[in-house]
Amino acid sequence: MSDALKLSGITKGYNLGTPTEVKVLNGVDFTLASGEVVAMVAPSGAGKSTLLHIAGLLDTPDEGSVEIGGQAVGSGDRARTRLRRQDVGFVYQFHHLLQEFTALENVVLPQLANGVSQREAQDHAMQLMDTVGLKHRVAHRPAELSGGEQQRVAFCRALANKPKVLLADEPTGNLDPGTSDTVFEALMALVRGSGMSALIATHNLE
Ligand code: ADP
Repeated sequence: MSDALKLSGITKGYNLGTPTEVKVLNGVDFTLASGEVVAMVAPSGAGKSTLLHIAGLLDTPDEGSVEIGGQAVGSGDRARTRLRRQDVGFVYQFHHLLQEFTALENVVLPQLANGVSQREAQDHAMQLMDTVGLKHRVAHRPAELSGGEQQRVAFCRALANKPKVLLADEPTGNLDPGTSDTVFEALMALVRGSGMSALIATHNLE
């Protein structure tokens, strides 16, 4: 089976308009096997977000290549957008849910954009929300949910299109320690239940 994600010789620097370039990634080689879940633990400023954004096709490396599901990612915008939409799920520290839609609709919409029928999208969304213990909150809007609940909806949305790889950038970083643990468990239940691969930047060593 092909690897879920393969990064080869990735370099990235930021040029702030001064002679000194900030070199963040210096030739990163990394492989995430199919079904594997890996935690990326490093201090703030080490380059975790930069690496995740490159892996998630939200940014391009200066050098090196990215493969998703054994497929080399080219530089064309359309192909990158298609791969990003179908094969990558991204979770940020902040939920970024659409405020004017219900929790369920937030999980249904990306599926409709991918051509899934309304009925099928709703059934799948309900199933995901059930896995994270939010079946009783599907009709709530994001503002009517707690921080931990909002983040659990964001996990469901990221997994809605059954991506090959889930990338999460400090997914519980905004939550208090008690909530963080249960929310992290919800994320793991979703990932393990789907058999997908995940790369998770976290400060939570547990
Ligand atoms: P982490 O996620 O591990 O905290 P980041 O990937 O966010 O680290 O940042 C790594 C380094 O790159 C930091 O020193 C940061 O200041 C710098 N950096 C990140 N994004 C930019 C940018 N758009 N412009 C300039 N420097 C940046």
